[in-house]
Amino acid sequence: MDRSCERKAQDEQFDAIRRLIEGAQTIAVCAHTSPDGDALGSQLALVELIERTWPGKEVAALLADDDVVPRTYAFLPGSERLVRACAYGASPDLFICVDLSQPGRLADARAVLERARRSAVIDHHPGAEPFWDAGVVRTDAAAAGVIVAEFAQRVAGALTPTMAQCLLCALVTDTGRFQYQNANGEAFRVASMLVDSGASPADVALNVYQSDRLSYVHLCATVMSRITTFEQGKIAYSYATAADLAAAGVPVAECDGLVDLVRVVEGTEVALFLKEVPGGRVRGNLRAKTDRDISGIAREMGGGGHPAAAGFTVEGDIDEALSVVLPKLRALYACAKGTGTFARSAEG
Ligand code: 5GP
Ligand code: MN
Repeated sequence: MDRSCERKAQDEQFDAIRRLIEGAQTIAVCAHTSPDGDALGSQLALVELIERTWPGKEVAALLADDDVVPRTYAFLPGSERLVRACAYGASPDLFICVDLSQPGRLADARAVLERARRSAVIDHHPGAEPFWDAGVVRTDAAAAGVIVAEFAQRVAGALTPTMAQCLLCALVTDTGRFQYQNANGEAFRVASMLVDSGASPADVALNVYQSDRLSYVHLCATVMSRITTFEQGKIAYSYATAADLAAAGVPVAECDGLVDLVRVVEGTEVALFLKEVPGGRVRGNLRAKTDRDISGIAREMGGGGHPAAAGFTVEGDIDEALSVVLPKLRALYACAKGTGTFARSAEG
């Protein structure tokens, strides 16, 4: 599909979402489990958009998990109104998923989706199997926030400074400050529009990247000191145990940035970060610095994500998780040997 056809298809889906909103009195908006800056920023902007454009509707902003708002994102306008899905007893007329299109990633909010009369989706993750009444899932969008911004322009024309701030946070975090492979022209164009609408890049940077607790910075030092490389330096890995997190007083939900410490090593192409999470499980973050697709490995580990940024959760401790995932990462390179070309993962 060329760009103008894609645009038209997106506008048609936007109009279908608009009709669903117009036909609903109670609406729940929810993003994925372990929410990041794109999940929360996109969700809060969409909630504000609906309330301003269609006053009188009852809109709930749900957290998928029975957990607090991550400290890093508490600065987002509207974050104080997020409600845990397990504490939301209503059956909404409409349930809107933002930054996810797999019900399995809704955690406690899945039950709310199942009770809802209708559903809509705005997402940019690959691998969706449509279950919704209307939706836009565009994997070339750098962030779900890009699509929410375009939806806001279509239904409201202009964005408020608070919506723009939430969406700029979504874009900045999902593009790694416009440094990852997904930072395309559309991401910059939308970011420019958001700044013109009142978003402050300096405020986003101050809150997200320059407001770490000292104990977290010390945890970063531990994680950096443990970085190990494999396959002639192509794979880099580090980890944090439950004891590390407890000693630093850092909640699991606030460790999103640790994988970025691993990727900085010269010559590395794949970064892996593992941390122990409650319930005897390990959460893994995978990142690719080249066009090598690591999402297939995340899926094999029971998770998923984008080609260059994916995650998974497995039972066991760090050693057990490493013993399963490391051979898979090494196999990416083993296949390439002898052919002189880069191998992609099975699904790549
Ligand atoms: P992160 O490593 O930051 O948790 O996630 C990177 C990307 O992969 C995000 O877009 C996230 O939504 C996605 N992702 C992380 N974990 C999972 C998972 O368990 N399942 C699926 N389907 N996607 C995931
Ligand atoms: Mn996202």
